[in-house]
Amino acid sequence: PSFSRLLVLVSVSGGSLVAYADASPTNGVPSLASKANVDEKKKKVVVLGTGWAGTSFLKNIKDPSYEVQVISPRNYFAFTPLLPSVTCGTVEARSIVEPIRNIVRKKRVDIRFNEAECYKIDAKNKKLYCRSNENNNLNGKKEFVVDYDYLVISVGAQVNTFNTPGVVENCHFLKEVEDAQRIRRTVIDCFERASLPTLDEEDRKKILHFAIVGGGPTGVEFAAELHDFVNEDLVKLYPGLQDFVKITLLEAGDHILNMFDKRITAFAEEKFRRDGIDVKTGSMVIKVTDKEISTKEMKNGEISSMPYGMTVWSTGIGTRPIIKDFMTQIGQANRRALATDEWLRVEGCDNVYALGDCATINQRRVMEDISAIFIKADKDNSGTLTVKEFKEVIDDICERYPQVELYLKNKQMHDIVDLLKGSKGDVAKESIALDIEEFKSALSQVDSQMKNLPATAQVAAQQGAYLAHCFNRMEECESNPEGPLRFRGSGRHRFRPFRYKHLGQFAPLGGEQTAAQLPGDWVSIGHSSQWLWYSVYASKQVSWRTRALVVTDWTRRFVFGRDSSRI
Ligand code: FAD
Repeated sequence: PSFSRLLVLVSVSGGSLVAYADASPTNGVPSLASKANVDEKKKKVVVLGTGWAGTSFLKNIKDPSYEVQVISPRNYFAFTPLLPSVTCGTVEARSIVEPIRNIVRKKRVDIRFNEAECYKIDAKNKKLYCRSNENNNLNGKKEFVVDYDYLVISVGAQVNTFNTPGVVENCHFLKEVEDAQRIRRTVIDCFERASLPTLDEEDRKKILHFAIVGGGPTGVEFAAELHDFVNEDLVKLYPGLQDFVKITLLEAGDHILNMFDKRITAFAEEKFRRDGIDVKTGSMVIKVTDKEISTKEMKNGEISSMPYGMTVWSTGIGTRPIIKDFMTQIGQANRRALATDEWLRVEGCDNVYALGDCATINQRRVMEDISAIFIKADKDNSGTLTVKEFKEVIDDICERYPQVELYLKNKQMHDIVDLLKGSKGDVAKESIALDIEEFKSALSQVDSQMKNLPATAQVAAQQGAYLAHCFNRMEECESNPEGPLRFRGSGRHRFRPFRYKHLGQFAPLGGEQTAAQLPGDWVSIGHSSQWLWYSVYASKQVSWRTRALVVTDWTRRFVFGRDSSRI
């Protein structure tokens, strides 16, 4: 059964052009498609979301033979890496957003945008159920149905509260532009409230206690921004309040920034200690009320509470309801994100792709397929392979699964060979046969150690560009496939699989210092990395307009400081 399923999966363009065939109302909901306004020859691609993945797809799609419809509740793209800077007014919210209509305006492809949210995906009938934003509700007609030939799901993820009581009601999140604006207002609000003459010292301390939950890159960057804002700008404007301000960073794990190199983690913890930011590691938040945060120490289970003025919750991402519902429909319930193959096609669906934070490349299937490659290579059915055949298998695996390649090259290849050596002797001699079962058990070790791609803008943007590139070359690759050999069936796959190229990561730590971890484990921390950060983030802006605005904001901040008006 898995063999036939794979054949279905590999036929990217197998779907027939059924969109627009149904102009009649669906379930009482009007369909947008009408034969009159549709070019029958054009294949319809619907893109859900205008975040990193969706926008990158739209920027890179070039083939005018598609008609593209974009559906997203937000009519702009937001440069999320600068959201922490928006919380303190280092850059303005409008400087990091670009209207999606502006981005697609000059393209030769027919791209239309609808500001709406898709609430249900019906992959069987290739229909999307959407509702417009509440404020667009004209004459009660706020729901509509959209048909598609190809669906690109890039709806991102939502905040994960781990069902911790009181978080939704009492904490700020830092996920959307509105969140950052709300935080900015609340910080100033806390300072204004703490300045009122009616308060005593204890009240002031409470109000000016800023708690940040989650020691990942976002939490750390926000803590650093807030510290700079307080020490560079607010102390001058609220002179009596400096001694009452406290910033606490709570992290359940042993260290902050644990996805970074240990040198960066150690530097960040030490810098925060010097700056007076209270880093509490091994401390898990179990409850938040309107006045207090309760934490449990991971070491001894001790529970304590602390009053706060503002709490920002930044502990990672969870699955959006629309994705949960879709995963249940297609038998992927209990997963964190939509499972795709290495061509980003959603498993078990025709012509549906998922990218960015809402998707993950299914590693388990990769491992099953690798075993199948191995079995296919065993031509004489002897249950063994020669070293030469073994090497060919590894090459085949690496061509087909780029995400495995690094792992095999760096480490696992040696581990596998060592494992096989253990029972079969010296593999360096060409004549020695390798045992399939042992190889498979070695692979299961790779399986447990292989990591999913991180949920970052870098991955999402590269996936969007990759998929657009595949769409642009769909016809060309139909006749000249360029992908790896099909190991279940004949011929080649049409496209090469998605290959992620890691370009490094930054962790701004405040005081014009940034930690940079670049490919090849190259670590740089300090002021020079801060300048690298400025140049990379300026160059990565989605348009010249936002680039100019962001650079102007940085200059304004250097000259005049941050604006503390609560508007
Ligand atoms: P998103 O960018 O979240 O976009 C999702 C889109 O889908 C949005 O337009 C949304 O409105 C839309 N949508 C949601 N629901 C629906 C629906 N039902 N129907 C239709 N549309 C819908 N990554 C880095 O690589 N480097 C960084 O420095 C970095 N810093 C970050 C800082 C912050 C504060 C945050 C929050 C994230 C940061 N990230 C960073 C992570 C990065 O932003 C995400 O990985 C990236 O946004 C994922 O892209 P996406 O397209 O999958 O989702």
